[in-house]
Amino acid sequence: MERRRGARTQFSIVYVLLALALVFLVQGLVARWLGRAEEVPYSQFRDDLANGRIAKVTFEEQRIVYTLRESSEGESVEGNFTTVRVDDSELVQHLVEAEVEFQAEPPPSGIVTALLTWVLPLIPLALIWYFLFRRMGSSGPLSIGKSRAKEIAPERTKVTFEDVGGVDEVETELKEVIEFLKDPSRFTAIGAKLPTGILLVGPPGTGKTLLARATAGEAGVPFFSMSGSEFVELFVGVGASRVRDLFEQAKTRAPCIIFIDEIDAIGQSRSSVAALRTNDEREQTLNQLLYEMDGFESNQGVVIMGATNRPEILDKALLRAGRFDRQIEVPLPTEIGRRQILDIHTANVPLGPDSDLDRLAQITAGFSGADLENLVNEAALMAVRRGDAKVGKQDFDVAIERIVAGLQRDTPLKGETRRRVAYHEGGHALVSQLLPNTDQVHRVSIIPTSKGALGYTMEMPVEDRYLMSEAVLKERLAVMLGGRAAEVLIFSEISTGAANDLERATALARRMVTEFGMSEALGPVRYAAGSGPGYLGRELGLESDLSPETASLIDKEVRRIIEEAQEQALELLRTHRSALDAIATVLQEREAIEGAEVGRIVSETASTKP
Ligand code: ADP
Ligand code: MG
Ligand code: ZN
Repeated sequence: MERRRGARTQFSIVYVLLALALVFLVQGLVARWLGRAEEVPYSQFRDDLANGRIAKVTFEEQRIVYTLRESSEGESVEGNFTTVRVDDSELVQHLVEAEVEFQAEPPPSGIVTALLTWVLPLIPLALIWYFLFRRMGSSGPLSIGKSRAKEIAPERTKVTFEDVGGVDEVETELKEVIEFLKDPSRFTAIGAKLPTGILLVGPPGTGKTLLARATAGEAGVPFFSMSGSEFVELFVGVGASRVRDLFEQAKTRAPCIIFIDEIDAIGQSRSSVAALRTNDEREQTLNQLLYEMDGFESNQGVVIMGATNRPEILDKALLRAGRFDRQIEVPLPTEIGRRQILDIHTANVPLGPDSDLDRLAQITAGFSGADLENLVNEAALMAVRRGDAKVGKQDFDVAIERIVAGLQRDTPLKGETRRRVAYHEGGHALVSQLLPNTDQVHRVSIIPTSKGALGYTMEMPVEDRYLMSEAVLKERLAVMLGGRAAEVLIFSEISTGAANDLERATALARRMVTEFGMSEALGPVRYAAGSGPGYLGRELGLESDLSPETASLIDKEVRRIIEEAQEQALELLRTHRSALDAIATVLQEREAIEGAEVGRIVSETASTKP
């Protein structure tokens, strides 16, 4: 937060300076426009007067403005002339003699001028000020502290469960809430109490915000939404009063939903290390929120929903009974779910005959709903770039590649690096191809990505695997180490490129030993805490409680498993050396190779194997 605030200040100073510059500029322009007159010396004025060229003279407070007669040649002299007024007692006399029309303008030359020169230039300043405040997150300088709860009228929340895919279980859980919101009296009549606070918990992009919206849409009730980060304001105390306003507004519109998105921004545990430097503002806001939630009776017909992807950092007080006491998990979509989400997002996208959504759903394991939406969008952009009206398989392939591996960098690998990376990736691909239980190779590429990977092998999971046997895991390890093994085999040395592979392999092997009980030496005992690599993390870190002997035994077992996997990979590559060479050659030539071609190479070279 602190950093953002700093950035904001700098930002506004730049804006103020810009505004001032603009004010002077505009002011200058206006002044010029008002008195479009050429400045001449007083002597010139007297000269013109003496020669009878002057038609009209206006005396202003400080200056004299005059126009010339049409000259004898008929050419008219454009514009006015102005000169500084000097103490010239005979001037009037001369003017009368020369039959010049003259008048005086009362000082100061009119309110209009003042308005134009001063008020007009202030308008951009005011506008900029206004937008600055908008940016800072309040609708205007006068409304700081007023709740910005955006109330979306029932008819405007058109989102329904139709628009959310792959979360059937969540929808079922929310059905009851919807029934309640549709007709609270039905529930309150029999004294039934519903949980007031529902917390949607899940990784980013899985559709939590969308679901909250859809819940309001399904129930047809007003939807008040606010984001936790919005609460953190410029002035202390503002967040708290916003919360108060939000709840006040909502009460008058019941039945309705209050949705607090990214609630972790305010609900962070007060005792967490990050909060050692106490953030009064956040704490006040949180306290107000707790207070408001306590003051709620479920029969008031207001349902409070929250969303977070970091439930573990939430203050425990928020999760207590009567507050967000019902948590609903919104997980990453399964293959079926991904298919549904793809259907939703391709509804308005013309698909080519070769684009196969079933296959797409299959190869996008780990993608969130937002990723899939992004994928469809990227693919559509690719199609446009190709000048095609339909989105085809190739567009999706490139889009997946971009999303999985980050945007492609322009400079291709050269020379020795290119050869090394080709062998490395070829090693992964070949091992994967040769082992029976691994995922199919989808595509291998040595196009460097902006995320720093020099290449990657994309496997296509045959199905989402919830249960994996020890054999499958060991094969996975062998694939992970295949790149490194290829480097050892061909170059007799390893490069830093394998660091990430090692990291992943070590993590997997460790889980096999400590969580899955796959080591005989340690037995079927669980040594790790936490629920896997999920977003919930493993904050408890029980491993540190292990005895030193057990810890070193774990390390030994992890090492053994990895070494075995590496040996297996090496062995496979050695016996299929010609296939490895062939794949690496293709990669060096074309930078990418499709899974099918890897399969073909393997089956062709298998017979020529020594
Ligand atoms: P979260 O709040 O969980 O981070 P969002 O609800 O903001 O995720 O999702 C961002 C966008 O991704 C949504 O607007 C929607 O277009 C798309 N999206 C995410 N999940 C789904 C889903 N399950 N079904 C359909 N679209 C989804
Ligand atoms: Mg969200
Ligand atoms: Zn690798």
